[in-house]
Formats: sequence, C-alpha cells, structure tokens
Amino acid sequence: MSLISASCNRQQPAQQADDFDYVVDHFADIEVLRYKVPEFENLTLNQKILVYYLTEAALWGRDILWDQNNAANLDIRRMLETVYTSYDGPRDTDDFKAFETYLKQVWFGNGIHHHYSTDKFTPAFSRSFLEEQLAALPADSVPANSAELVELIFNPALAAKRVNQAQGADLVATSANNLYAPGLTQAEVEAYYAGIKVPNDSTPISYGLNTRLARENGRIVEQQYRIGGLYSDAIEHIVENLDSASNYAENPAQKQIIRSLIDFYTTGDLATFDRYSIEWAEDTASRVDFINGFIESYGDPLGMTGAWESIVNFKNNEASERTEILSGNAQWFEDNSPVDPRFRKPEVKGVSAKVITAAILAGDAYPATPIGINLPNANWIRAAHGSKSVTLENITEAYDAASQDDGSREEFVPDQATRDLMAQYLFITDNLHTDLHECLGHGSGQLLPGVDPDALKEHGSTIEETRADLFALYYLADPKMVELGLIDSPEAYKAQYYSYLLNGLMTQLRRIEPGKEVEESHMRNRKLISEWVFEHGKADNVVEIEKIDGKTYLKINDYEAVRRLFGELLAEIQRVRSEGDYATASALVQDYAVKVDPELHAEILSRYAPLNIAPYRGFVNPVYTPVRDAEGRITDVTISYPENYTEQMLRYSRDYNGLKH
Ligand code: ZN
Repeated sequence: MSLISASCNRQQPAQQADDFDYVVDHFADIEVLRYKVPEFENLTLNQKILVYYLTEAALWGRDILWDQNNAANLDIRRMLETVYTSYDGPRDTDDFKAFETYLKQVWFGNGIHHHYSTDKFTPAFSRSFLEEQLAALPADSVPANSAELVELIFNPALAAKRVNQAQGADLVATSANNLYAPGLTQAEVEAYYAGIKVPNDSTPISYGLNTRLARENGRIVEQQYRIGGLYSDAIEHIVENLDSASNYAENPAQKQIIRSLIDFYTTGDLATFDRYSIEWAEDTASRVDFINGFIESYGDPLGMTGAWESIVNFKNNEASERTEILSGNAQWFEDNSPVDPRFRKPEVKGVSAKVITAAILAGDAYPATPIGINLPNANWIRAAHGSKSVTLENITEAYDAASQDDGSREEFVPDQATRDLMAQYLFITDNLHTDLHECLGHGSGQLLPGVDPDALKEHGSTIEETRADLFALYYLADPKMVELGLIDSPEAYKAQYYSYLLNGLMTQLRRIEPGKEVEESHMRNRKLISEWVFEHGKADNVVEIEKIDGKTYLKINDYEAVRRLFGELLAEIQRVRSEGDYATASALVQDYAVKVDPELHAEILSRYAPLNIAPYRGFVNPVYTPVRDAEGRITDVTISYPENYTEQMLRYSRDYNGLKH
C-alpha cells in the first residue's frame, strides 16, 4: 500500500513552482518545452557512457526520417537554413518573421508537412522574399534545383498530404511520403505484398518495414534501408555508435541485443530484426534501454514501412512499482475483461511494464513524442515472447507542469466539483491510463486462428488504439484499482472519464483546421469511443451535451453507465479485431470517428483562441557532454539544458548531417 503515497507524492513536483523553465518556444500551433532527466547524475559511470553513445546513435538517424517523409525535405531544409543563417536584413519585417515561423514548422514536422495532420505547411511569407534571398547568396551555396524546391513550397497542389487516408483514394499515389517511388499505385503495392507473403505463416516477418518500394526494369523491387543500401551513410554512423555503446552494456544479454541490431542494420534481414526484437522484449533486467530503428508505421498509409525513430531511456525505479503491480496482475485483467472468452488470451505472456525517464528523443519521436510505448509491434512476438510497455513520466511531468493554469478547464468544465476532481486525480489517472493502455491494452486479446493481422487494413491503427484505450478506460473504474493500491479513491476514475469524453467529443477539434475531417488514428479512436458512447447512452441520458449562455458543455449524468458502455464497445472492437471484420471496422470509423460538426468546430476554435494554448507540443533535448582524461578516456558524462529550439535544430543539422547529397 506504500504505493498510494508514492504515486500521490509524484504529483507534487509538477505542481510546485520550480525555477526550471519548461517552455522554450511558441510559434504557429506549436509550443516547445524542455524536459528534465532526473537521476541521470546518479547512474553509474558505465551507464552514463552507455546512454551517451546510444544518444549519439539516436541523433545520427535524424535525416533518415526527413528523407522518408518526403524526397525533397533535406534539400529544402538545407536551403532554408542557408537563407536563415546568412540573412542580414531587418528581422522585424512580416516576411522575415513568417519565414522564421515556417522554418520552425518545417523543423518540427521533420519536413514540409505537419507532423500530425500531415498537410503541407502554407508559407505566410512571399515567394519573392525567398527568391530574393536565394539570388543574393553565393551561387555555390544555392542548390541547383532551388527553383523546383521553391515551387514545391509554394504550389499547394504539389505534395499536398504526406499520408493520405481518404476513403476511396489511391493511398499510395496520393501520399507525398518517400516510402513508395513516384508512379506506384496502391493496387500494385498490395499485389506485390500479396505475392510475397507466405500463407498461414505463424511467425511472419514485418513485410516492408525497412524498405522503399520502387519500380526497376518494369518490376517492383524493395530498396532496403541498410549499410550498402538506402540511407547507408547515416546507418554507418548509427552502427559505429551502437558498437561503442556495446562495450558499456550492462550485461551480456544487452550486449547481444545491440549486436543483433547491428546485424540487422548491416544485412537488412527482417528475420534478424525479429530475433533482435525477441531479445529486446525479453531483456527486463537492464536499467538503461533504448529503441532505435524503423518502428511505427503511421507514416505509411498502408501501415507497412516503419518510420525511423530512437528513444534512449532508463528505468524510474520508484514509479515502476505501479506498472509492476499491473503487469503482475495481467492474467486477472485478461480473465475479467468484458470480451468474448474466445478472444481472450488463455495465458498472458510476460507483459513487462515500467515507468521510464527519457534521456533523448529522436527521429519520429522528436520534437513531438509519445508518452507511452508498447513494443515490439509484431503480434506473434508479443504472443510468444511478451512485449515491453513503458510510460515516459518525465515527459508527462513536463506537460503537466506547463499546463498548470492555462485556463482551459475554466472554459470547458462548467462545475467546480468536476474541476476539483480533475485537479486532484487527472495527473495520476492520466498516467494510469497510459500504463493500462500500453502495458495491458495492446497486449490483451488474441486473433482467431487464420486471421490476417493486417485484415483491417487502413483502419488497423485506429481500431488497435481504440481497443487499448477502451481496455484502460474500462479498468480505471474497476474496484481492483483501489484494491491494488494504485488509486486511493473509487471516484478518481471520473476525472479521467470526464476529461476523455470532453476531449473526444469537443476539445480535440482544436487540432483540426476548419473544413477538415478527423484523420490521425489516435484522434479517430478518441472520437470513435466518445461519439459511440454518447449515441448509445442517449436513450438513458447517460451523457448530455448542454448549452449554457450559447456555449456547449459536456455533462455526464451516469458514470457507471459510461463504464458499461465502454465495456460493451470493448467487446465489439475486440471481436472486430479477433475476426478481422473489415466491414464493421470501416463502418465504425466512418460513422463515429471522421465527420466534424462545423458549428461545434467553429465554437471550439473560437473559445480556444483567447486562451492562446498551442494544440501541439514537443521538446528540445538536453545535451550530454563526455568528460575525458588526458588519455581520452571518458571519466564522466554531464547533462545540461543550454539550447533553445533554433540553436538545437541548427546544431543537429550541422553535426548530424547523415545523408550528404
Ligand atoms: Zn497505443
């Protein structure tokens, strides 16, 4: 029971005023924060050096992601940075300020598309401003294709969307990412994979995870990301630092994991990646841990190719007591879930969960980053070898600290009692939601024999996130949470329920531009759940939308009924996933997750505007500096937080220029 006080104590640091400046920049729809890395100083010297080399391996992959996102991204970034750093005109003109904002947006999106909506950014500076700046530069610092790049920036019809998910469109041909060569169609890509997939394979490789598809001599070929293949230069730097890191591994198992990853980067062989993933999933003993590779496939409209990312971290031992309790009871949660017993796992294998402290964010996890991660992604590995689930608590603490008193609760939560409940319990229930989602939700349930894991196609990500969220929401209200000492009040879950439905039904719309639909899979999942519960509770007035003085508010009349509805929807979503029921998945997404009420949307945007809250946030990283003795041996690694956003971006572009053209 000591955990109750432990978790309550952990709420305090975020609420205490401290002199750490969390907010470092604010532009367009973005706020950039810093995060602390508590306890780094207390790691052993070996662990610090291990972290140092792993962070170097992380930073060297940056340009891979930029190129994956769009083939022109690196050229455009270099061109914009050259203009920016050589500019000596007045800095207070509208053109220059808009140019600077655009460059900051491009940095944040790891390219010319918004990291979340994947829409191409619209520059607010004039084309002639950029052309004049380019004309004034020495010829050898202007790229030969600069006219083309300028056209790409300014012509809204070109590369309009990085990941197009629109129903009925050719998702490959209309997506501007660089995962498929120009000219390829969705039908060709699907036919190609259908042709190489081994039927009834119980241990399938992650097809396409580390490849760009292209056409050569009329045939479709996979261009592998590996040493000697695509992105070889950057991968060589990654491998060099992984190799150095391996000398400081905490134990032989961790050394082997790093060697396997190096093998994968060297050969590109996806069976080797699976071997690495199994070794990685099974290592729960090391304190320092990392993700480094082609991992999540949200950037691919077909969900095949992994975006490059890296996160280096170490275990937060005290806070991990919470997730260890959850994973220690994983079988109880599985056995008591409201889904058809046929779809439950008879035996939950090795769900390992921990709370971690992020030491560096890189690639697709930078500057915007997840707060919870569950890997590996391959279903059969999760079933046979378990998965590792983490909550990034120094990141959630930074969010929480930066959100104190931003005015949004006063605006959107009408009654004081609910606001008080949220003030008291939202931080802990947010963290528990993430723990449950990652550690138990994604790992729960099973596919029926013979069901293709990709059967839900473009709705796969949304349905999977829906499933994990529902699992978390359902159990947050379970008496088991109090019994296990994870929460000290049976009322605490209400803070999370209110906040979740408010977000899903209303406030997340602030992230959508007027006239657009909901596209990103996590946003779709939150809307799907919230709209479904609202509609299915209508007859009993479970959840009400009320108007007070012309403003829309959410009112929950029956929290227990909300929980029952979460359980019912979880049962249905699990059935859809277990049976691979594409038609129902598609209908649920279309009916509940996509369409935006324009009137409500306009109201939300206008109520947020005066609060001046950025809808998206991301981070700058700390700086790790090795201290060396006269022989060059590292005797310590120091951590500091000296850089602002622009300084960090320019330094990364200069020092980790992994893909020279
Ligand atoms: Zn998830």
